[in-house]
Amino acid sequence: MAKKKSATVSEPTASPRPRPIRQAWKFCPRCGVAATKTGKNPFHCEACGHTHFFGPVSAVGAITTDSEGKVLLLIRGKDPGKGKFGLPGGFIDAGETAEDALRREVFEEIRLKVKSMTYLCSYPNEYIYQGFILPVTDMFFVMEVQTFDAIESGDGEIHGWHFCHPGKKELKNFAFESNRRAMELYLKTR
Ligand SMILES: [Zn+2]
Repeated sequence: MAKKKSATVSEPTASPRPRPIRQAWKFCPRCGVAATKTGKNPFHCEACGHTHFFGPVSAVGAITTDSEGKVLLLIRGKDPGKGKFGLPGGFIDAGETAEDALRREVFEEIRLKVKSMTYLCSYPNEYIYQGFILPVTDMFFVMEVQTFDAIESGDGEIHGWHFCHPGKKELKNFAFESNRRAMELYLKTR
């Protein structure tokens, strides 16, 4: 007969609320001493004087339209925001320009080649990943692609796409606030 589960075995608990990554820094990366204060930005080690800033990482996003003026929205295939709308784009690699990151991400995600791009605006964003909140600066561009004929899901990051004239329904269904704000600005000013 199966033994009754011991009362001391802890049940899986719900994931803790996401927290800023600075709160997970318990030790100085320079000297290894346990931090006396955690959660501050910058992190400061009283033992060796080392200071570390938790700055945002950078990302790009693109707004593009087809020949009828319909905007391309991507349906996200993964969390955060799985099933919600996003814009083509992603994180900028170290040593890469924002423009090159946009060309690379657009090709990786939907196999399209960028013909031209114009800077639109930037908004702060928070990317929640594996229990941490990562601050992000999102930079948005209005882009033209060579052709939409080649569109296909590239790296599996997206579930599909949707060309539309975004209204209230679409705007409230964006995965990220920054993307929605950029889209609203674009619709207002185009
Ligand atoms: Zn230290």
